[in-house]
Amino acid sequence: MKVLLHGGTVLTSDGTVSALATDGGTVAWLGDDDRAAAYDGADEVVDLQGALVAPAFVDSHLHLVQTGRLLDGLDLSGCSDKDDLLGRVAAHVAARPGDAVVIGAGWDETRWPERTLPTADELERVAPGRRLYLSRVDGHSAIVSHALLAETPQVITQEGWAATGRLERRAKHTVSDKLADLDGPEQRLDAARRAVASLAAHGVGAFHENAAPHIGPEYELDLVRRAAAEGGLHVTAYWGELGAFDKVERLGVSGLAGDLVADGAVGSRTAAMTDAYADLDGHCGHGYLDAIQIADHVVGCTERGLQGGFHCIGDAALAAVEEGFARAAERVGADAVRAARHRLEHCEMPSPEAIEVFARLGVVASVQPMFDGLWGGPEGMYAERLGHRWEAMNPFATLAGAGVAVAFGSDSPVTSPEPWGAVRAAVHHQNPAFRMSPRDAFAAHTAGGWHAAGLDGRGRIAVGAAATYAVWSPTAGLDAHGLPVLEPGADLPLCLRTVVDGRTVFPHQEHT
Ligand SMILES: [Zn+2]
Repeated sequence: MKVLLHGGTVLTSDGTVSALATDGGTVAWLGDDDRAAAYDGADEVVDLQGALVAPAFVDSHLHLVQTGRLLDGLDLSGCSDKDDLLGRVAAHVAARPGDAVVIGAGWDETRWPERTLPTADELERVAPGRRLYLSRVDGHSAIVSHALLAETPQVITQEGWAATGRLERRAKHTVSDKLADLDGPEQRLDAARRAVASLAAHGVGAFHENAAPHIGPEYELDLVRRAAAEGGLHVTAYWGELGAFDKVERLGVSGLAGDLVADGAVGSRTAAMTDAYADLDGHCGHGYLDAIQIADHVVGCTERGLQGGFHCIGDAALAAVEEGFARAAERVGADAVRAARHRLEHCEMPSPEAIEVFARLGVVASVQPMFDGLWGGPEGMYAERLGHRWEAMNPFATLAGAGVAVAFGSDSPVTSPEPWGAVRAAVHHQNPAFRMSPRDAFAAHTAGGWHAAGLDGRGRIAVGAAATYAVWSPTAGLDAHGLPVLEPGADLPLCLRTVVDGRTVFPHQEHT
């Protein structure tokens, strides 16, 4: 199948042209419209009508099934307060009689005028007898109903349990493990398919699944791969379990990385801080791994040619990770560590010394610009939890400037997988010192993602490269480099078509 696209702006690896031809899964020709008129033998000719053709996005950190669940599930992200949340639960349950477990996500009490959370008793009133699991926007704490708690009576003796029905840490993990039995493979596959369709519709051609024992069962990885293959998206999968080297082959993952948690998250006050949280006396969060455990894991992965990595957010967690990597390099050599291309998820509060170590050892920073977009700034949640420390968070430009490879992701369902929104957030970082140029930000969300997966030379449009691109209607025009102008508050470019290795994955096409 040969396709010719003309009459638009094609963002190539060196400048822009107005036409592009693909042959099967490969870019066959690049040029201008007058020469495109003479291009012979195309099976399909597309008049771009001024649209932009750019490399498809890579989302370097997401959770497919959980993303899909939100697309049909109980989205609590817009809740304005406790009563609004309870009202949404009541409406959702009323529309779905029966006894299926209800999973909701996305509430963020830091955005409510009063930060009071609903209790299990209040949930009982609006959804009597129903099993409910309502996870906070960062996924590190949840509110659950009495009916669900009754399935896991042991939690009341566990760390992180509160009588109100709010759970974190061990107690939260126990209940989310239980959900695996209650929410079966069929429901999960449906959710994964919905999420793939939604990603394709956002111009995403590849994604990294950050699976982990505390997020979903092992079999979920097969469902994720199946949904991705059906929908034509490229997937790189990670498993976040410390030292689980014997599982890698069976699970078919690229590494033991992703959400292998070195700490929690700022919103839940579980991210590990050197100094106490500004809004909770004497509380420094929770570090889950020490430098020795981290070093052992990195060495084990390096020796097996696997990517290793950690979820690390707070400065104390990042200090442990820094020390762990430095120790690993002493044991197996910096070259070997670099060759394995390890990666860190979030990497929100790295010290200058940590950045130096990560740059030297070729560790990729897989970051989420919407974290700053939603929670940065002097009035934001980070400032509320940490005071002036918010200013040093998510130092994208500093990481890149120091030579750390940066890849962008959404951590969906934590933030919405809207790639231009992430590029815009990085360009308009709330701390001007950390802003990236539109070109660098776009590269971090395309080529940077392929690099983070260990796949070099992808994420660009050039003759001989993969025909993996998206077509956009740029609502506010293009800048001098051919990238869409991304103004805060303005509409983001609209995706018209997404193609992966020559296959159109959006809009969805029926196979004949
Ligand atoms: Zn995650």
